[in-house]
Amino acid sequence: MATLSEVKPPEAVLSNDEILRYSRHLIMPEVGMEGQKKLKAAKVLCIGAGGLGSPLALYLTAAGVGTLGIVDFDVVDYTNLQRQIIHTTADVGRKKLDSAADKLAAINPFLNLRTFDMKLTSANALELFREFDIVADGTDNFPTRYLVNDACVLTGKPNVYGSIFRFEGQASVFATEEGPCYRCLYPEPPPPGLVPSCAEGGVLGILPGLIGVIQATETIKLILGQGDSLAGRLLLVDALGMKFRELKLRKNPDCPVCGTHRTITELIDYDQFCGIRGEEAPVFGGLSVMSVEELKKKLDAKADIFILDVREPHEYQICNLGGYLIPLGDLPKRVSELDSSREIVAHCKMGGRSAKAVAFLKQAGFTKVSNLTGGITAWAERVDTKMPKY
Ligand code: ZN
Repeated sequence: MATLSEVKPPEAVLSNDEILRYSRHLIMPEVGMEGQKKLKAAKVLCIGAGGLGSPLALYLTAAGVGTLGIVDFDVVDYTNLQRQIIHTTADVGRKKLDSAADKLAAINPFLNLRTFDMKLTSANALELFREFDIVADGTDNFPTRYLVNDACVLTGKPNVYGSIFRFEGQASVFATEEGPCYRCLYPEPPPPGLVPSCAEGGVLGILPGLIGVIQATETIKLILGQGDSLAGRLLLVDALGMKFRELKLRKNPDCPVCGTHRTITELIDYDQFCGIRGEEAPVFGGLSVMSVEELKKKLDAKADIFILDVREPHEYQICNLGGYLIPLGDLPKRVSELDSSREIVAHCKMGGRSAKAVAFLKQAGFTKVSNLTGGITAWAERVDTKMPKY
C-alpha cells in the first residue's frame, strides 16, 4: 500500500520557532524532522466543528498539521458546550467556524486554516476533497456519513471515521487503497427514526473527546506513515464499562461503492437514500399533526384533550406539560390505559418518537390522535419560554 508519505515528498521547511514548538516531536524517532515536515506539508479536511471536530481540530493544529480545512455551516448553541470544547459560553450564537478559527489561531499561528461555510453536499464534496490528503469525519448524521464515505472512495482519500452515542463510540480508517470502506461494513443506512440522534438519545460529554482524539491520532499516523492504522479494524469503545474491543473488517467484494461490481460511481441524493428529507422527523403517511400554538389554545379553552408524553421518565423530570407518561417502548403493552374516545395529542422531545406513537395508535384503532409538531422543545421555544430546554 502506498502511504501518503511516499506519494507526497515533504517540501516544508521549519523555522527556528517551529523547531522549538515541536521539540517533543522532533526528539521522537517516529516523528523527527522528517515527520514534522510531513505534518507541515499535510492537508487535512475536518467535516464539522462540533463534538468530534473540536478535539480533532485542536490536536491537529497543536501537532503542527500545516493545512486544516473545516466544513461547517452551524452556529454555536448553548447545548453544544457540554462537549464541543473548542467553543466557549461567549461564542453562543456565533458561527462555529469563526469561534473555532479564533481558538486555533491562538494555539498555533503557523496553521493555514481554510474554512468552508457551507453544508457538505453531493454537489461540492468531490471538488473539496480533492484539495486535501485526508478527510476526518466528525459528522453526526447518516446522510453526511455516507456522502463522506462515497466521496472519499471516489477521490481516493482516506476517511478517518468516528461516531458516538451515549456511552459508546466507534472509530476506524476507511477507504484506504486496500482497506474496506464504511459501506463494506454498512451497505445500507438503518431505517429512518430507528437509531436516535444524539439530540434524542443523548451523549456523554467526554465521549467525543475520546473518539475525536483517536481520530486525530490515526490522522497523524497516516501522515507520518507510522504504526498500524485502524484500516481494516473497527474499534468499539464502551465508556461505561471502559472496554475497548475491535472487529476485523474486510473489504466486501459486493460493496456498492468499492467492490468489484460497483453500482455507485458518482455521488447520489443521500437524504433520499437515508429516507430523510430535510431536518424533520420521519413523516408517516396520513399523520395528523397539531402545532404547539393550537394545543395552547385548546388548553386555554379548557377543551377535553389528553396529553400523552412518550418520552423517558428522566426526560419528564427535566420538564413536562403535565401529560400522561408512557415511554414509546412501553406503549404496545400499556395501550389499554388510554381512552380511544378522547382526543389525544402525543408529544416527545422533538416530534420523532411521538410520530411513531401516533402511527401505532392509529393502527390500534385510535382515530382522534395527533402528533405535537416540534415536541416539547417547540413548546419551550414558542409558548412557555421559561420552560427549560434540553
Ligand atoms: Zn466498500
